[in-house]
Amino acid sequence: MTNDLEIASVVDALRQVLPTNQGFIPLHEPQFGGNEWQYVKECLDTGWVSTAGKYVERFEQELTNYTQVKFAVAVINGTAALHICLKLIEVEPNDEVLIPALTFIATANAVIYCGAVPHFVDSEKKTLGIDPQKLNEYLHEIAEVREGHCWNKKTGRRIQAIVPMHTFGHPVDMDPLIALSQQFKIAVVEDAAESLGSYYKKRHTGHWGAVSALSFNGNKVVTTGGGGAILTNNADMAKRAKHLTTTAKTPHPWEYIHDQVGYNYRLPNLNAALGCAQLEQLPGFIKEKRALAETYRQAFESIKGIHFFTEMESVRSNYWLNVLLLDDASADQCDALLDLANRNGIMMRPAWTLMHQLPMFEQFPRMDLRVAENIAKRLVNIPSSVSISSNN
Ligand SMILES: *Cc1c(COP(=O)(O)O)cnc(C)c1O
Repeated sequence: MTNDLEIASVVDALRQVLPTNQGFIPLHEPQFGGNEWQYVKECLDTGWVSTAGKYVERFEQELTNYTQVKFAVAVINGTAALHICLKLIEVEPNDEVLIPALTFIATANAVIYCGAVPHFVDSEKKTLGIDPQKLNEYLHEIAEVREGHCWNKKTGRRIQAIVPMHTFGHPVDMDPLIALSQQFKIAVVEDAAESLGSYYKKRHTGHWGAVSALSFNGNKVVTTGGGGAILTNNADMAKRAKHLTTTAKTPHPWEYIHDQVGYNYRLPNLNAALGCAQLEQLPGFIKEKRALAETYRQAFESIKGIHFFTEMESVRSNYWLNVLLLDDASADQCDALLDLANRNGIMMRPAWTLMHQLPMFEQFPRMDLRVAENIAKRLVNIPSSVSISSNN
C-alpha cells in the first residue's frame, strides 16, 4: 500500500464545492427559511410558551406523518428520549446494554442514567454502524438465553437491550440485527438521533426498535433549538412514554397525584413551534443534502488516498454529516488534514473518541473493536449544511 494522499488537494476539492463568499464554514448550521418566525411569534403573542400548547401535539402528529411510525412523544432533547426509551423496555440497574463503541456520548450516558452497564460492540465498514454478523459470533460465544432473557455468561449480568445507532444518517443493516435480537431475546432501541429522513428498505429509521429516539439539537437535520422525540408503533409504550416524561402525573382536575418518579422532559411549545416550521421544510432539506452528497462524491472521485462515504444498497441516507475516509495507508495524515482544513476556514472534525477509550468507560465490557478503531483513525466529517447545496 502506498500513501497517495495529498492533503492540499482535499482542501482544494472542498473549496470547489463550498461557497467562497463566506468566512468560516461550519459543519452544520440550521436553516430558518420557512414559518419559524410566525409560529414562534404566535407562541409569544398568545402566552403559550411552555409545555402546554397546540404546537407540541401538532409537532408529534407531523413526526408520525413523516416517519409513518404510529406514535411520537416530544421531549426536551435526544438524550432524554434515549433515557426514557431504555426505561420503557425495562433496562434495570446492573443490566447490560449493547451499544456501538463508535457513537456520540449520549448513547452511553443514557445507559448509565439507568444504572446499567454499556457493553461496546464493533461497527462494519459498509454502514459505519453495528456489525450484525460479528455480533452474532460474539453472542454465541458469551451469551445464553435462559428464562426468556439473555445472560452474559462471563459477567453473570442480563443483556437487556441493544441500541443500533444510524451513524451520520446512514442506516444500520437492520434485518440481520433484528433476527439476532429475536434469537437472543434482546430488546432493540434505535438511536435515530442522526437519521430523520433516512430509510432502510423503504421504511423510515425508527420503525424497527420497540422504541426509538430522535434528536432536534441545533446541528441536526431539523432543529427545535434543543429537543427530541420517542417513536414507537406500540400504543401502550407511547402512553407510558408520555406519562413518564410529564412527571408521571395522573389526571385530576386539581390534585397533584404522581404514581411513580417521573421526569420533567416534555418539549416546550416554543420549541415545538420551531419544529413544526422546520418539518415543513424537511423534504426539501433532504433533497438538498442528498444533492450535496452527490456533488462531494464526484469532487472526490479522482482524488487518491481518500474517498467519500456513500450509502449502502437498499437504504436512503439523509447524509446528515458527510464523511470522508482516508485510505489505511494515509491514515497517519488525518491530523494534518484536520489542521489544514480548519486553518483554511473549513470546519472539519474527526470521529468521536470511541466510547471504550474514554477513561470513565474503560472498565466496561467490550468485544473486539478493531473495525471501529480503524474507522475512527481515518474518518473526518466535512461541512454539510443545507445552505451549501443551494450555493451550487
Ligand atoms: C445528537 C445525538 C443524540 C442526542 O443528543 P441531544 O443533544 O441530547 O439531542 C443522541 N445520540 C446521537 C448518536 C446523537 O448524534
